[in-house]
Amino acid sequence: MTIETILPTPDIFSARRILCVQPHYDDNDIAAAGILTQLQQNGAELFYLTVTDDLMGVVDNTLSNEDAAQALTRDQFAAGKIVGVKEQYWLGYPDAGEYDYFAVRRDLLKYIRMLQPDFVFTADPWLTYEAHRDHIQTGLATSEAVMFAGLTKIASSDLIVDTAYKGHDIRGIVFYYTREPNYIADISSTWESKVASVRCYDAQFTSQEMDQLVMALDAKSKQSASGQEFERGEPLKVLHTSALHCGF
Ligand SMILES: [Zn+2]
Repeated sequence: MTIETILPTPDIFSARRILCVQPHYDDNDIAAAGILTQLQQNGAELFYLTVTDDLMGVVDNTLSNEDAAQALTRDQFAAGKIVGVKEQYWLGYPDAGEYDYFAVRRDLLKYIRMLQPDFVFTADPWLTYEAHRDHIQTGLATSEAVMFAGLTKIASSDLIVDTAYKGHDIRGIVFYYTREPNYIADISSTWESKVASVRCYDAQFTSQEMDQLVMALDAKSKQSASGQEFERGEPLKVLHTSALHCGF
């Protein structure tokens, strides 16, 4: 018997409720809109949760914080329409700022217990050479919240949610922005729609930067699919939640 027999890599196409936790407004879509669109078309409900307020990335410095936030949200809703996102949530921690890791983890416990997703997507916090702390904190806090969701002695930020929570099965965690993928999603059929969703995020990129981003995604998607029988891929690390501790 192998460890894969005991802890098989979960099938993401069995997902019915997916919570995608991202550091910034655009990460879920830049990293995974191709596969998320397919999973939504396959019958899964998509919930996006954004950890930071993303205000540092807004290119128009003349905008007030309020207007910048409005522009980010407008972009996110436009992209969400293309991908098929059912609901968006925001935690509003300061982008690239100082905030408490455990406060984020408590909030994530709340949303996981409240929404009860069967799969959770987030940024791989162990990506080598990832320098952006928001990405590392978000990925790690999400992983811990997935692991601890059933342990209600570990309080979330909402006592009412904790009291009502009776436990549920999280079948898998999926990391994007990973250097150690164990699954390359074939996104050939949703590539065009992925580009359309990414192009919605124009508060955060000049038109030249956006063209560069799309070119980089174009090259990366083809590179990820090399050796596969399809043209474009998104690299993912799909894990059984028990694989999040002690190297199983
Ligand atoms: Zn980001």
